[in-house]
Amino acid sequence: MDWVAYRFERRKILKGVAAGLLTMWASRRVLGQQGRLTDGLAVVDGGGANVLALSAGDGLVLVDSGAPMSAQQLLAAFRNLGGRSTVKTIFNTHYHTDQTGNNEIFASQGAKIIAHERTRQWMSADYWVPAEERYEKARPKSARPTETFLTAGSFKAGNEQIDYGHLPLAHTSGDIYVLFKNSNVLAVGDVVSPLRDPALDYFTGAWIGGRVDAMDLLLKVANDQTRIVPAYGPVMTRAGLKAERDLMEEVRARLFKQVREGEGPKEMLEGGVLKGLARTWKDPYKFLYDAAKGLWAHHDKLDPNVV
Ligand SMILES: [Zn+2]
Repeated sequence: MDWVAYRFERRKILKGVAAGLLTMWASRRVLGQQGRLTDGLAVVDGGGANVLALSAGDGLVLVDSGAPMSAQQLLAAFRNLGGRSTVKTIFNTHYHTDQTGNNEIFASQGAKIIAHERTRQWMSADYWVPAEERYEKARPKSARPTETFLTAGSFKAGNEQIDYGHLPLAHTSGDIYVLFKNSNVLAVGDVVSPLRDPALDYFTGAWIGGRVDAMDLLLKVANDQTRIVPAYGPVMTRAGLKAERDLMEEVRARLFKQVREGEGPKEMLEGGVLKGLARTWKDPYKFLYDAAKGLWAHHDKLDPNVV
């Protein structure tokens, strides 16, 4: 390449890089901190919780609908995705309001809502929240899932193959994963929690053994190139998921022993059951309280042969 051609080529490349950076910056600004994963797939900020959006030509497929009051912010991000920004399908990874907060808004525009049957049930009746000593009111009918399943399902949206399945008793009783197979992106809801303390809704049956089993299942669904989208926090790799699974298994083994010895969460905390783990806890007592309640509820699974 002669000098003039070299300079021309270099200028073209630099211009391309600058344009690329500008596009990336613009889309990050509108799409939130994490932005696009592929041309059609992006993680957007749904009021602090992740919403995964696929632009599939004739409309959007969402995993979770964001926290209440975040609809306008989400709609602005969807318009930036290109393609038609009408929401056609919503998956709810579980029933919490951070994941279902805008269901009724998108449903009123024609979206169908797919979720596990237990999620529909939790959203259909008032339930007692022990930690807050109050009832969470049933959601209006328009916010509830319109299509439910018990084990697994799949369908095609544009060119994308979408596979989904149940993750039993990991965070609630209705957790699911959603795999965008062609893009190799896996949404896992709050079953994987890199940012917050792992939450266990023990009153639904969720427990720490279920959480470990669910992460084992996800490790089979993912490969080394899969990008994993949790309910909160950054996009993860399979290695990150494996690290969280191993840590949770260590916690399970420690708590299992303490529970069999008859200890409650207060004794566990004072005895340093969470010491030396590669994780800081915002509210270790609440985690231990919920984990111990879950272990008690699953006492039939406490193997008598474990010393
Ligand atoms: Zn949750």
